Formats: sequence, structure tokens, C-alpha cells
Amino acid sequence: MASIITDTQDTERKISEDQLKEAIRTILLYIGEDPSREGLSNTPDRILRMYDEIFRGYDEKRKPRITTFTNSAHSEEMVFDCGDYYSMCEHHMLPFFGQYYLAYIPSAEGRILGISKVSRVVGYCAARLQLQERLCREIVEMLDGALKGTSQGFAIVMRGRHMCKSMRGTRNKGEMSVAYFTGCFKKKAQLRNEFYNFINTSKL
Ligand SMILES: [Zn+2]
Repeated sequence: MASIITDTQDTERKISEDQLKEAIRTILLYIGEDPSREGLSNTPDRILRMYDEIFRGYDEKRKPRITTFTNSAHSEEMVFDCGDYYSMCEHHMLPFFGQYYLAYIPSAEGRILGISKVSRVVGYCAARLQLQERLCREIVEMLDGALKGTSQGFAIVMRGRHMCKSMRGTRNKGEMSVAYFTGCFKKKAQLRNEFYNFINTSKL
């Protein structure tokens, strides 16, 4: 079973499952609950298993394999993908989630991505304690790395709703958008406009 918190070599757990469950019980006591009551007795165990899933992004072994292909058509068209994502904010350990919109332009002699892999990369990078800004960058870096830096540039916009803003403090809607551009998207406003047109016509 994959561990929640591993060192980079993924050799040994720093925190045992029992220690984590004990920590959850401490939180339950702190908020005024009785960890031994029926409805809560398995909660530490459920949270442990949930963390293994929603924080799998710390486990190198669960990193998605990104298929790339030779750009045999020498295409330099913009490739666009979008979908939903779910992550946890690092400030409050509460969810933030929304839509991502990603585009890249391959170079004629470079490689192209199996576009179906983008959502897996988004899911993997989102499965850590995150900031929306860093999440954008990590997704692009991982995809760019898979293409060995051969693309002309990447564009990503992430829209997010932050539960830490909706549930607490000012209780506003907690919505924010972050955009990140590299290469040709950084240089050419016209490409960014095309990308935003894709976003506006996408069904999300
Ligand atoms: Zn937060």
C-alpha cells in the first residue's frame, strides 16, 4: 500500500498508520467530539485511506506515465484540453476545485503528447497540498518535461473555488483564476487570445 508521507526515495514511512490515526483522534477530541462513539470509531481509518488517495501526488511510484509521439505530421497547431480538478489548499487543508484549460503548441520537429494523459497529470499534481499558482506551474513543468522541452510553449488557466474562503472568514465565494504561460504564449498576445477563445467556447 502506498504511504501518505514518504521520503523522496520512497523507502520508509516517516509516520506510521497508527500515529496518523492517533493524530486524527486528537483532532476529534480538540473539536469537542468523542472519538469512540459509533459514527466516529472508523473515521481515523477512513481518513487514512482517503489521504492515500487524495495525497497520492507525493508518491513518485504513482506518477502517471506520459506517452509522447514523434510529430510525424510536423503539426504546429494549438492543442487544447480542459477538465475538472480537485485539490487541497496548503494553508487550511481544505478543498479547492474547478476547471483547468490547457494548451500547447508542438514544434514541427519535436514530440507531441498523448492528450488523454493531461488529465492524469493534472490529477497527480493536484493530489498534494497546493497553491493554485504552483499547481499551474507544476502541471506545465511535468508535461514540458515529458516533451523534453521540445514544445513551442504552454498555456494554462485554472479556475478554482476555495472552500477555505467559502466556509470561513469572509465567507465569500472564494473564486479565483490563475493563468500561466511559457514560450510562444508568453511572447504573443495573439496566441493567448486564441487560447482564451478556446476557453470561451469550451463546454465546461
Ligand atoms: Zn486555504
